[in-house]
Amino acid sequence: MGDEVTEEAQREEAAEEEAADGPSVPQEGDAGPHSGTGHGPPDKSARQTEEEPAPRRAEISNYEIVEHWFQVAAERLELTDDVAAVFRSSYREVQVQVPVRLGDGKMHVFSGYRVQHNGARGPYKGGIRFHPEVDLDEVRALAELMTWKTAIVNIPYGGAKGGINVDPGKLEPSELEAVARCFMDKIDKLLGPQRDIPAPDVGTNAQVMAWLMDEYGKLHGHTPACVTGKPIALEGSFGREAATGRGVVQVASEAAPEIGLDLADATFVMQGFGNVGAWAARLLQERGATMVGAADADGAIANENGIDAAALAEHVREGGPLADFDGDAEAIGPDDLVGLECDVFIPAALGGMIHGDNADRMRCRMIVEGANTPTTPTADEILNDKDVLIVPDVLANAGGVVVSYFEWVQNLQHFRWSEDEVNEKLGRIMRRGFQEVAERAKENDTPMRPAAYEVGIERVVEAASTRGYI
Ligand code: NAD
Repeated sequence: MGDEVTEEAQREEAAEEEAADGPSVPQEGDAGPHSGTGHGPPDKSARQTEEEPAPRRAEISNYEIVEHWFQVAAERLELTDDVAAVFRSSYREVQVQVPVRLGDGKMHVFSGYRVQHNGARGPYKGGIRFHPEVDLDEVRALAELMTWKTAIVNIPYGGAKGGINVDPGKLEPSELEAVARCFMDKIDKLLGPQRDIPAPDVGTNAQVMAWLMDEYGKLHGHTPACVTGKPIALEGSFGREAATGRGVVQVASEAAPEIGLDLADATFVMQGFGNVGAWAARLLQERGATMVGAADADGAIANENGIDAAALAEHVREGGPLADFDGDAEAIGPDDLVGLECDVFIPAALGGMIHGDNADRMRCRMIVEGANTPTTPTADEILNDKDVLIVPDVLANAGGVVVSYFEWVQNLQHFRWSEDEVNEKLGRIMRRGFQEVAERAKENDTPMRPAAYEVGIERVVEAASTRGYI
């Protein structure tokens, strides 16, 4: 498949260090006005007055973005209002109190959420996010997105998501462990290998999954298949850590010929340099592509002659702020990143970062969405008008849940596949997903995003109606 970078080189280090480190840290101050919980029309407040600094994320909620695309697909599929109403709301939404005594001696009360959107195609599946801005609206949107995503790549799951409004960067590892265990104690009855299987997302990692698995095991007996994204030492799957980034690169390589691009000669920009971004950057570089810009929550850097993605990943892994990278790159303003000229722009940070106020500054030929809901509908329109090919989140970042599925299958059989086997099977599923969505887009003469939603929604509707749910 040509994916030369494997986790081999890092596996031993990573297995130990993941266990010792806290999760990669989403930072404060990243968001300007963040996703709200209101339900106004798309992009209503992405427009700023001249005096205000440009926002780095639009004030449109993740839920509004997902709802917009569901509505577009529902109309094309001619779903009746009563059926659409079933998918417009979640099957179950749970909010729990997560009270934990921290090192300052005081009780701190966080809010934890688990939303199960739809389970027609199998057990609920979706990540758990630890981030100070987590709220029900965001978790609800991401749960629905998982329902369509698992259907688009055709793996036997429903959609769910969870989260806690906590900043993991501000907690000691023991405090983070207490938060994770307390959350599991509150939601364990909703979970289980045949019910709902959490995984890592922003602010959580293999160590957090290990604590969640252990806590679940105390309550129900040892059950490795209750969460995915676990450390290799605890029945995690080879290839899981890199899977989302690898899937992004696999679909990028399928999409490149559509715009006459050879990835080996391509330039790219990476927005967000955590798990997804750092892996995608290294794997693209392995294929010969050149990274000309990168950003994390603290800053951005650029060099039109190339930034070494592997060296930058190492720098970030050792805790260095991305902007302090002493390779040959200059620091740029975070909002200038989207304007860098490149062939491929990869959003791999948070939702709503490509919006009505910055989309027309973009100078890329293709966007491959590593992040969830990074592009608002207004930005989508602007970019479509500019003939930018967008490979949407529901397809492009599905690699993580696909290898989570492999991990679950391996756990249920207590059998381990090799990393090559995992990567090869992942490539097959991602290529098939890409082809099916691209075909639908051609048939309908639409961009890939509405086509992807249609493919996913159709499969869920069929499963739900065959079961007799609708
Ligand atoms: P992570 O916490 O490892 O990394 C997030 C990165 O985004 C960090 O580098 C952070 O500094 C950066 N960031 C935050 N705010 C930013 C800002 N304002 N500007 C620039 N960078 C900013 O998280 P991750 O697991 O890599 O997830 C990234 C995205 O990919 C999220 O949208 C997540 O939902 C999505 N995703 C992740 C997975 C997975 O398997 N981890 C799977 C599917 C989708």
